[in-house]
Amino acid sequence: MYRICSFFLFVSSLLAAPADWIWSARYVITEDSQRRVIENGAVAIVGDHIVAVGARAEIDAKFQAKQRLDRPEAILAPGLIDTHTHAAMSLFRGIADDLKLQDWLEKFIFPAEARNVSADFVRWGTRLGCLEMLLGGTTTFTDMYYFEDVVAEAAKEAGMRGVLGETVIGFPVADNKTPADALKYTERYIQRFRNDPLIVPAVAPHALYTNSDETLKAARALADKYGVPLVIHLAETKKELDDTMAQRHMTPTKVLDTLGILTGRTVAAHCVWVDEADRAVLKMRGVGVAHCPSSNMKLASGVAPVTEMLAADMAVGLGPDGPAGSNNDFNMFEEMDLAAKLAKVTTGNPQVVPASAALEMATIRGARALGLEREIGSLEAGKRADLIMVRIDRPNAVPLYDAVSQMVYALKAEDVRDVMVNGKPVVRDAAILTLNAPAILRKAAEYQVQVSQSLK
Ligand SMILES: [Zn+2]
Repeated sequence: MYRICSFFLFVSSLLAAPADWIWSARYVITEDSQRRVIENGAVAIVGDHIVAVGARAEIDAKFQAKQRLDRPEAILAPGLIDTHTHAAMSLFRGIADDLKLQDWLEKFIFPAEARNVSADFVRWGTRLGCLEMLLGGTTTFTDMYYFEDVVAEAAKEAGMRGVLGETVIGFPVADNKTPADALKYTERYIQRFRNDPLIVPAVAPHALYTNSDETLKAARALADKYGVPLVIHLAETKKELDDTMAQRHMTPTKVLDTLGILTGRTVAAHCVWVDEADRAVLKMRGVGVAHCPSSNMKLASGVAPVTEMLAADMAVGLGPDGPAGSNNDFNMFEEMDLAAKLAKVTTGNPQVVPASAALEMATIRGARALGLEREIGSLEAGKRADLIMVRIDRPNAVPLYDAVSQMVYALKAEDVRDVMVNGKPVVRDAAILTLNAPAILRKAAEYQVQVSQSLK
């Protein structure tokens, strides 16, 4: 009997296809087209991509893995996708809270940036941001800042995926003195990273109200030349809407569309002050919307009409926005939870933005917002291997009746235990594998002293 068994095991191991990794968990949330949740499921990985997703027994029979990670007390889910943030601003975390956006920007952030932002600042700030993001289960981030080539270097060092836009803005900043210089800088940056497996370089004109029409058009032309995304803040505050209406008799969305800015791949952050006609334009142009509930609540910017956008099946993702005063962290679990609750309290309807819709925005719909839905956002054969293991053995995780509900309403960023990006483990047992965490925390403390002194 023993001989027969071992013979069958020997034969099946010959038939089994090789895999680099198998990750298995109590529940696998796939976010595939049927939104399957597989109990006792597993994912097989070869190189940088997923080759199979299914019941653990089935995956184990089909694949012989070099390495494996089995977590009977975890949820395995697609890595979370942040569609709008400013990672390096983590070094300004909490510098000035409880202010209006314009006051916060003009009295604190712009002066602090003018006196402190350098390539070194951006490198350490991005390392700090990536450290927090990866430990909290974010595997892709969408960034807008200065020295974006340095952001890309730091993201690659962290092993994190990024859609990273070099900021173009209508006044002198740390890396470029004019928008024309910024556009040249952006082109060199795009040329350097456009074929990178982790980085999608992007052009990021800051906003309509901080750039001339000519600069915005040149940014669109540059994005089109290389087929890269254009990332922009849009219709964030009532002031932006009122000023634009007074000056141009059109909404900010309509102005951008009239200028031809929305004709190619675009990710627009906030979209709070968009009326029905604006939403029709965004939908028609296929614009990805980055909904930032924490930021919109903290700055009292208003409430984006997410319920309507989802009803129209628009590509809406989630973003924590800025760690410096408009949030102040990179916690995508919090953004999912708040996106669901903010929509409910403002519509008076607890049925809108259910947990499934919130999780979609943080995964597959967020991938659509970035134009990356064929690469990331779900656990399916052929997609890049961006996965997270979230523990479900803590008091806040039991009992568990519904894995999707638990992800959105009960689990926290701190429950993330393991993270893989592009087939490579980057977090194991809640510890970072790719970055020097103690050195990053030390450097953040040093920068705190420097930034405080610079504002005296
Ligand atoms: Zn922002």
